[in-house]
Amino acid sequence: MKDYIIIEAGQAGLAMGYYLKKSQKEYLILDANNEIGAPWLKRWDSLKLFTSSEFNNLPGKKFPHQKGYYANKYEVADYLKNYVEEFNMPIAFNQKVSSLKKEGDFFIVRSDTQEYRAKNVIVATGPFHTPFTPAFHTKIDDKVIQIHSEHYKSPKQLQNGDTLVVGAGDSGVQILDEISNTNRNVYFSGNTNIKSLPQEFLGKTLWWWFSRVGFLTAPKYSWIGKKISKGIQPIIGTDVKTLFKKDNVSCLGRTLDANNADIVFEKGTISSIKNIIWATGFKPNFNWIEGIELDESQYPKNYRGVSSIEGIYFLGIPWLYTRGSATLGGVKKDAKYLKNYIYEKDKLHVANTN
Ligand SMILES: Cc1cc2nc3c(=O)[nH]c(=O)nc-3n(C[C@H](O)[C@H](O)[C@H](O)COP(=O)(O)OP(=O)(O)OC[C@H]3O[C@@H](n4cnc5c(N)ncnc54)[C@H](O)[C@@H]3O)c2cc1C
Repeated sequence: MKDYIIIEAGQAGLAMGYYLKKSQKEYLILDANNEIGAPWLKRWDSLKLFTSSEFNNLPGKKFPHQKGYYANKYEVADYLKNYVEEFNMPIAFNQKVSSLKKEGDFFIVRSDTQEYRAKNVIVATGPFHTPFTPAFHTKIDDKVIQIHSEHYKSPKQLQNGDTLVVGAGDSGVQILDEISNTNRNVYFSGNTNIKSLPQEFLGKTLWWWFSRVGFLTAPKYSWIGKKISKGIQPIIGTDVKTLFKKDNVSCLGRTLDANNADIVFEKGTISSIKNIIWATGFKPNFNWIEGIELDESQYPKNYRGVSSIEGIYFLGIPWLYTRGSATLGGVKKDAKYLKNYIYEKDKLHVANTN
């Protein structure tokens, strides 16, 4: 029986582990992968952070690069590995948790190979669960290479010829940008009415400005927080207006349907596409938690990570509390709140049992 089980060893799980260790609580972290930093290493090769080093600090350890530097995915994975080593965190790898349920006063946590028991569970499984691709992708000719952004690494995965990138988020435009430099026709499908912001402005990083105007710290329950969280998030670091105007890039609106080689868009049908990157996002999956109540976005109902089931906590969910909640530098605030909440709850429990 563990006092605490943390599910996942990414930035959110590790930040929580740091605070539990500091409070001398006994815990174990379970992670589906076989190494620290795996979600970062699986992302595309040219990925660079949109936050500069001074905004990437987890609690207790500075991100090791100079101010204003935008780290690559390997540097983030190394930082997380060193974090685990420095704080000597107990982690069980290859433990994809398939069910979590309460039984009396404790929880049963099951992976494919093991069963664990714990008095409290912190679920920090990140924002990216089930890759979403529109259902009509199955109607597309087998000769077309289709890759979800989760599995996109570089243009080397593509065959020669016209390529379609679907999705107007940060992933979609970064991948579109990279592929548009490979001497081919590139089609873009998605909202072109998006704003982009430069990584630097008047000699300061964008994140510096964000922190100055309270963009990163406005709670989602505040007026400004509601406005920011419900609006379309700006693209950071890629100049989309210039990208969409490139000679070899055509914007086709939404993708509506497909039939063999014909892909149907708001602005016409194209039959020459040889590769498709679906940068169409992810759906959350918390169905494996018995009895958990979900909100309209399919995330667990909670207040700052405290759920409706006593003893289950959440961390790392986008907008758990602020815009920073699902970022490297922002997660510590939420983890610290939960640590204090748990500390007070345990104190009360001890007082009641004495
Ligand atoms: C392209 C991209 C660029 C980004 N750039 C930045 C940036 O510049 N700056 C920044 O601060 N943030 C950035 N982020 C956002 C954020 O930092 C990352 O998404 C971060 O990886 C989320 O951390 P996490 O620990 O919450 O979850 P993840 O790192 O996603 O880790 C979740 C882990 O949980 C495991 N897991 C899931 N389900 C289970 C289960 N049932 N049992 C056990 N394990 C499970 C997964 O296998 C995975 O290992 C970026 C994200 C993306 C996608």
